[in-house]
Amino acid sequence: MKIFKLLSRKYFLKIIFTAFILVFICLPQIALPQTTSVEYICAETDYETPVYKFQTDYKKPTVMIIAGTHGNEIAGIKATQYLKDNIEIERGTLIIIPKANILACEKSVRNFPPDINLNRVYPGNAEGNEIERLAYEIFNLAKKYNIDLLVDLHESIEFYKNNPKNYGQTLVIDSNDDYLFNLSSSIVEEMNQEILDSNNKYQVLVKPVEGSAAYSAYHQLNIPALTFETCRKLPLSFRIEEHIKLVKLILFRWNMITVREINYLKKGG
Ligand SMILES: [Zn+2]
Repeated sequence: MKIFKLLSRKYFLKIIFTAFILVFICLPQIALPQTTSVEYICAETDYETPVYKFQTDYKKPTVMIIAGTHGNEIAGIKATQYLKDNIEIERGTLIIIPKANILACEKSVRNFPPDINLNRVYPGNAEGNEIERLAYEIFNLAKKYNIDLLVDLHESIEFYKNNPKNYGQTLVIDSNDDYLFNLSSSIVEEMNQEILDSNNKYQVLVKPVEGSAAYSAYHQLNIPALTFETCRKLPLSFRIEEHIKLVKLILFRWNMITVREINYLKKGG
């Protein structure tokens, strides 16, 4: 009986020791779960809008996604709402603003008030009108989190190739410096691989739009910034998937996720 007790204690210690070694070896490879938090910009005003932050123990890189700058460009809004409920990052920090101009989004109009375009007043003004204050808070958020990349999601009523006044199916950059041009070109190339109809393929557009979120991020914060534009003539479900696909492609490239399957339609959107 005594021998049996001794053996079982030895056996027990062996199991504990093996388990300890296993945990020690495996722990660095286990992705630590992200923490999610919500904060508000323009708090306690009509433009109060949520900002979702997903953070891991590896805080860098930090990527910021803006949608709903224009309230009637709904693919980006739906895509970011889907992402904020479903994304799981493994590294870095992801900041998502699904409805930048929340009143324009609620009214499904491009701008609200109608005569002020949020995407022409960056970096904003703390003492200015309500939209300049909104731009100021969004820009401040980018500074506060020391972001490494900004992606602004938009839509256009027409294909760029049909009418160059519109930017449908483009990835717009605000400078043709080598890094930004190569980055956007390779993203467009990858996005285009899965687009069968050649009319719907994307192209890189070098078009500095002063006062836009991307322009200010690039020229004042010195970080890469991309404005993505789908064409509203294409089906909404396709456009939403494209916005999700773009964001996931970027997170994948920045090593923030390791799997980038799109299952928006399977989940029923
Ligand atoms: Zn827009």
